[in-house]
Amino acid sequence: MALLPRHEAPGRPRPAKSSPTSSPSPAPDLVAKALAVHRRLCPVYGCPIPYFHDLDPVSELVSSLLSHRTRNADSGRAFKRLRALYPDWAALIAAPVPEIEAAIAGVTWPELKAPRIRDVLMAVEARAGTLDLDFLAGLNVAEARAWLEAIPGIGPKTSAAVLSFSRLRMPALPVDSHHHRVAQRLGLIGPRVDVGPAHVLLRAQLPEDWSAQDLYDNHEVLMLHGQRVCHHRNPACGACVLADICPSARTTSG
Ligand code: SF4
Repeated sequence: MALLPRHEAPGRPRPAKSSPTSSPSPAPDLVAKALAVHRRLCPVYGCPIPYFHDLDPVSELVSSLLSHRTRNADSGRAFKRLRALYPDWAALIAAPVPEIEAAIAGVTWPELKAPRIRDVLMAVEARAGTLDLDFLAGLNVAEARAWLEAIPGIGPKTSAAVLSFSRLRMPALPVDSHHHRVAQRLGLIGPRVDVGPAHVLLRAQLPEDWSAQDLYDNHEVLMLHGQRVCHHRNPACGACVLADICPSARTTSG
C-alpha cells in the first residue's frame, strides 16, 4: 500500500466519514436478529456504556497489542510499566528488546509481543512520517482500517480497537473472543467463521449510520454478555434474555 500523502498526515482531524460500501449484504433475518440482540442487551448492561480508555491512537495501539489473549488487569499493568519506563514511544523503539520483554513479562507471550510492538511502532513511524496516528480521523473507517492492517502484526481486531477505543472515537466494531462466541451461538455468524472475518460480517448486520458510541455499545454488550452469562463453558441459558432467539440455548445449557 502506498504511503499516506504527507498533506493528509497530522493536522486537524475531520469528522469520520461513513463506513465502507464494500461490506457484504447480510440476510434480512440476521439484521433483524442483530438489532433484537442489541435492543435486549442494552438495558441489561446500561447503554450508553462509558469508554474505558481515552488514549491517543498510538498508545491505544500499544495497549491493544499487549492485550491479546491476556487478562485486562495484566495488560493494563504492562502498559503502565511501559509508560513509566519510556518517556514516549520513540524511546521504546530505541530500547533493547529484552528490556521491553522484561517490562511486559505479565502478559502472554512477552517474547513475541516485545519485538512486535517495537516493529509495529517503527512501521507506523516509517509510513506516517511520524509516531502519530491522529491523521486517521480524516479517513473513513475502511481507509483507516486498511492503513493500519497494511502493517504486519495489526489485524482486524487491533485496527478496530485503535479506531473505536482511542480518542479518535471512530465508528468501528471490534470483536473479541467473548463477542465472537456469543455471536456464533446466536447464529449471527457461522460456526467456522474466525474472529478476523467476523468483523466485517457483524458490522454489516448493523445500521450503516450508527455512531461510534452505538457500535462501541454493541461490542461491549456482547462482550459483557459473554463474560457474565454466555460463558465459554456452561453458559447460563436459563438466565439469558436471548434464550428464545438463540438456536444454541437448549444444546449448550447445563
Ligand atoms: S441462550 Fe445460552 S448459548 Fe444462547 S446466548 Fe444465551 S447464554 Fe449464550
